[in-house]
Amino acid sequence: MSLQVNVSAGAVSVRQSAEQLRILSVLNDLHLKYKPLTDGKVADYIPQLAKVSPDLFGICIATADGQVFEVGDYDYLFTIQSISKPFVYGLALEDHGREYVRTRVGVEPTGDAFNSIIKLDERSKRPHNPLVNAGAIAMTSIIKGTDPTDKLNRILDLFQRYTGHGILADMSVFMSERTTGHRNRAIAHLMLNFGMIDGNVDEALDLYFQQCSLMVSCRDLAVMGATLANHGVNPLTGKRAIPAEYVRDILSVMFTCGLYDYAGEWAYRIGLPAKSGVGGGMLAVVPGRFGIGVFSPPLDERGNSVRAIKVCEGITEAFGAHIFDVAFCSSPIGTNPLREAPPERPALASDTRNGHTPSPQLEPHRTA
Ligand code: GLN
Repeated sequence: MSLQVNVSAGAVSVRQSAEQLRILSVLNDLHLKYKPLTDGKVADYIPQLAKVSPDLFGICIATADGQVFEVGDYDYLFTIQSISKPFVYGLALEDHGREYVRTRVGVEPTGDAFNSIIKLDERSKRPHNPLVNAGAIAMTSIIKGTDPTDKLNRILDLFQRYTGHGILADMSVFMSERTTGHRNRAIAHLMLNFGMIDGNVDEALDLYFQQCSLMVSCRDLAVMGATLANHGVNPLTGKRAIPAEYVRDILSVMFTCGLYDYAGEWAYRIGLPAKSGVGGGMLAVVPGRFGIGVFSPPLDERGNSVRAIKVCEGITEAFGAHIFDVAFCSSPIGTNPLREAPPERPALASDTRNGHTPSPQLEPHRTA
């Protein structure tokens, strides 16, 4: 197993290096703790995906100021699958603006599986949200480009901006899904019937299958997350991946819809905008602070990586990263700043009613 930290920032102070060690040790502990977990099953409905080893397991955190912490199989390449959806949604927003995109897709969670075929909002003529397959195919179908190659190149450029390097597709996974993805074809044709997508359905599906088959590592996912955490600027390259105004749109749908029929439980327990993929990847964002990338192929019955859910929960706990803990933290990264005590505040009048003396300021849970 490898364990490493890459710090792109210049001089490292003693305090910083202590913080870095702690972050690494949290990731290492989580990796050791969940490596023996064998729950879940590798996806096989796309036949080629079934070939991956269930033992692969990598974790990476990339901070909004460009530090990268990684353990395990952090550079193993796997297909991005549904984690591509929020990013292509961002490209659709960039291409057409919010007003038009809102006419083509909603922002309501469905509470259904990612490939649900029945949940199409026939009244508003749009799929519920851009993260279920119906909404994602609708978004891919409106990506601008002169022809299919041009559209694919624009999607490749998009992921190059987010990851900081060129991206390739796994052709065998692409072909595997292209020849067996009857359910997605049915969804797309149903949407054509309802007037929810127009143009060439087969072309849109090909582009959707291609975006799903792009190869990333969990390090890439963490850097993509850090880019969103950094308001759209890749912290490693300093280049903007998406206009800042659309980052909020992406994070909002990730928060409410990113984990499909587990989205509510996820928001409650982990409390972060996130997106899972059936390739075993998970990406989560701690706005303003860091991105998380996890890779572990065995999935639960909802199609989310079992180990990745556990790891994200562990990271949330260790660093006070739940979005509603955010008031307790003032610094983007570091040991204590990741989980600072909230400032002392005077007791509210209601705290002393009935002669009750307010308890001392509650210390947030510390793991160090
Ligand atoms: N390509 C996959 C599909 O459309 C993506 C699903 C996923 O990752 N949840 O079925």
